[in-house]
Amino acid sequence: IISKRIYQSGELIFEEQPLVLAQFEWNKLYKYSACEYCLYPLESCEQNVRRLCQDTSIVIQHPECDPNQTISQRIVRCRQCNEMYCSTKCHQQAMTNYHSILCQSTENEKKDQLIRHIIDLWRSAHPPPETTSITLVLKLMAMLKNSNNRLLLLQELQKFSQGVQSENQKFYHKLLRKEFQSQVEQLRYALEQFNEQYMQISEFKWFLTSDGFRQLLALLGRNQQGIGTSSLAIWVKNCENLSKTQETTAAAAGAAGSDISQFIDAIYTKIDDVSGEFIDCEGSGLFKLQSCLNHSCDANAEIQYLHNNSTLSVVTTRLISPNEEITINYLSECDRNRSRHSRQKLLQENYLFLCQCNRCVSEASEPDETSEEEESENEMDED
Ligand SMILES: [Zn+2]
Ligand SMILES: [Zn+2]
Ligand SMILES: [Zn+2]
Repeated sequence: IISKRIYQSGELIFEEQPLVLAQFEWNKLYKYSACEYCLYPLESCEQNVRRLCQDTSIVIQHPECDPNQTISQRIVRCRQCNEMYCSTKCHQQAMTNYHSILCQSTENEKKDQLIRHIIDLWRSAHPPPETTSITLVLKLMAMLKNSNNRLLLLQELQKFSQGVQSENQKFYHKLLRKEFQSQVEQLRYALEQFNEQYMQISEFKWFLTSDGFRQLLALLGRNQQGIGTSSLAIWVKNCENLSKTQETTAAAAGAAGSDISQFIDAIYTKIDDVSGEFIDCEGSGLFKLQSCLNHSCDANAEIQYLHNNSTLSVVTTRLISPNEEITINYLSECDRNRSRHSRQKLLQENYLFLCQCNRCVSEASEPDETSEEEESENEMDED
């Protein structure tokens, strides 16, 4: 995607909704409670912090900074299976798109069991940190089943397979490595059963052949975009804004501001002790426009979730000139600082391409060394 005009640093370029999204299965199992349709967090900040710290005595300062204070009264539940939604609108959308089929309503005990079996298989093959979810496939199948224009939906899905097919020969997605072979086959078989017994979508049959399923997983692995939402993060942001205004309006309030930041620091330290890096409600989705953005190790834009749900925003990180390509960094925050060799290896395993961005090219003379961190990880793997 090429920029047509000047963008200032921090400017919003576009926003979009995912074609399909799903919360990660372990994240859900561990009660990171979020709207099943849009991933909006369904805990108040206090509930969120108490759970992450495993301490029910914590009382949040400045509750007025928490827009989710009364969220528990607003939650809409599916009457059949108790699944939770942030609004009637999300519940209805989910019902229309896929939930009427995937609902664990006990109406069809065997179908429910098969769905649970597929999710269990996935969880055992893909422990945290999670990158994507088999629920995306289940939802896509249900969406196809419910759709009155299957061809259009399939075409949209096919667009994500660009780059997967041709380059698949050279690089294999890490989900498809030898050690997962039998688990991948079990999953494929279970999904094939699901299609034959309950869905009968002839257009999806190919994806459930050995080749088709490998390509489907590569497509998901390569295109999925992580989504994170959090009641705590919003409260922290509002508290920080509050202390900023206080500091500027009253001299004495400076002390109040630092009280809040001490309180926030203490919370994060405790969460780190008890829950580690797993703070957010997490999931992943397929986004049509975002998936057209190329990677650069020196990107000029980034993904943000400004609405604390699955609406994705692309925001510039520096000034962008007309005719400049808009790029994002596919790597996680900490992987971005690794050596060229390590970055290229990660990108090959996860996104199936060899990065030749400006930064990689300018670092081409550096030896093919992995970052120190990664070396120690590899050593641990070998043990
Ligand atoms: Zn929602
Ligand atoms: Zn339901
Ligand atoms: Zn690069």
